[in-house]
Amino acid sequence: MKIGPVKEVFKNLFKKPMTVMFPQEVVEIPERNRGEHHLDIDECISCGACARICPNRAIMMVEVPPELKEKYPKTYPQVDLGKCCFCALCEDVCPKGAITLTTYFFLATFEKDTTIKEPIIIE
Ligand code: SF4
Ligand code: SF4
Repeated sequence: MKIGPVKEVFKNLFKKPMTVMFPQEVVEIPERNRGEHHLDIDECISCGACARICPNRAIMMVEVPPELKEKYPKTYPQVDLGKCCFCALCEDVCPKGAITLTTYFFLATFEKDTTIKEPIIIE
């Protein structure tokens, strides 16, 4: 009889598990984790640099809804998270720090349309 596997079982029996009881327990997300984007539209100057540098063409410059056009008359980045590879080049290139990647990563969805992040979400 091989002793190796039995020894291994006993060695691991008293170790702290590597997994957590998700969703009751969540692991701490590193500060630099690249998750969902955040756009500070008031800082955005509509230069389009984020859209141009995006390797996956995940950013389109779009107009905001008509009721907000007076305040935001230009075009602003709309991110399709379904196309994004979270490289953060858009964040790196933004001259105003207007687009940033947050640590939020609960992005799985069954609805394809919900992957598109409009520049302004109307509540
Ligand atoms: S993180 Fe990368 S792939 Fe995603 S939108 Fe920004 S530039 Fe494009
Ligand atoms: S988010 Fe930044 S890079 Fe993108 S259009 Fe606005 S200012 Fe330019």
